Amino acid sequence: MPEPGVLTFVAPRGAKKPPRHLADLTPAQRKEAVATLGEKPFRAKQLSQHYFARYAHDPAQWTDIPAGARGRLQEALLPDLMSVVRHISCDDGATRKTLWRLFDGTLVESVLMRYPDRVTMCISSQAGCGMNCPFCATGQAGLDRNLSTAEIVHQIVDGMRAVRDGEMGTADDAAAHGAPTRLSNIVFMGMGEPLANYRRVVDSIRRLTDPEPDGLGLSQRGITVSTVGLVPAIHRFADEGFKCRLAVSLHAPDDELRDTLVPVNTRWKVREVLDAAFDYAHRSGRRVSIEYALIRDVNDQAWRGDRLGRLLKGRHAHVNLIPLNPTPGSRWTASRPEDERAFVDAIAAHGVPVTVRDTRGQEIDGACGQLAASER
Ligand code: SAH
Repeated sequence: MPEPGVLTFVAPRGAKKPPRHLADLTPAQRKEAVATLGEKPFRAKQLSQHYFARYAHDPAQWTDIPAGARGRLQEALLPDLMSVVRHISCDDGATRKTLWRLFDGTLVESVLMRYPDRVTMCISSQAGCGMNCPFCATGQAGLDRNLSTAEIVHQIVDGMRAVRDGEMGTADDAAAHGAPTRLSNIVFMGMGEPLANYRRVVDSIRRLTDPEPDGLGLSQRGITVSTVGLVPAIHRFADEGFKCRLAVSLHAPDDELRDTLVPVNTRWKVREVLDAAFDYAHRSGRRVSIEYALIRDVNDQAWRGDRLGRLLKGRHAHVNLIPLNPTPGSRWTASRPEDERAFVDAIAAHGVPVTVRDTRGQEIDGACGQLAASER
């Protein structure tokens, strides 16, 4: 179970909670909420249809609901959760980062990335992060608070709407190029440690994957949850029975170095983290992704690549190397190309699949947490 200070975040006394929203509720709870307002229970389904299937949260568009009831329903179930502070695009419009302001002024980020065969969205699960990894911009700023289920889900609802409305390239362009016209992949790799906001993240995955109109109808296979390695929460996540992909941010194969790069390693060691990841892979049937940010002369020595290859050999895992995206003021930077190549070779020599992630959005402060940090 979660332990205070490590896995759970206790809100300060008097802190205001995000407003309750349709996306916080199960279909049964939505019916109850609607009935409490004195409305017919089927209004819950209508509202769900508008929100999860049509991405229409403007009451003017709810023409199947009497005008007199719309305001009441909106106030109770579809309050404004967040507003766009700004969008920043790069990579010829294929990457768009959004900075959001939440109801209490808190800032979070999400990123849409268009690829030839898919559109992926990177979303935040917490405002800030408490894991304190020294190379990560979000880690430097600390944890503000957990996002509510609806605050997580709404980032994606807006992403689905933006892709549908051609904000990431028009449907005609896309059709002409055979490109995707629907947001299909979600990665919990924005701000925050998703498994430290466990209940709300799991609930959000249900909202994302429940069929329309109860949810967005996304495939579990298109969702990746990335974690620093909170071992009890990984086991608990395996118990949920999802087909989501798990990504584990390893960044070092040895405890001595990992203790410094991922401070929670002082609590759960490399061995335990990998055992939990392999257990997840076994139970979900999904190959786990081992994330490794390559930092010049810190963790990029070929012997570390060799050690990583040995740890993963014969396992249902692949390595995703991320060239470090330097954060302002940091003494660290990305590896030299020749060191990166030698590192890849050392892993591949063990027959372990390894890829180097493309670095989207560098010129828009694309690394985790940088946009929010520059706004502050
Ligand atoms: N807290 C989760 C998810 C958010 S970070 C986790 O740690 O997995 C998503 C990924 O980006 C993690 O692998 C994280 O270590 C990595 N990351 C953070 N800052 C980075 C940077 N400056 N350069 C490269 N990767 C970074």
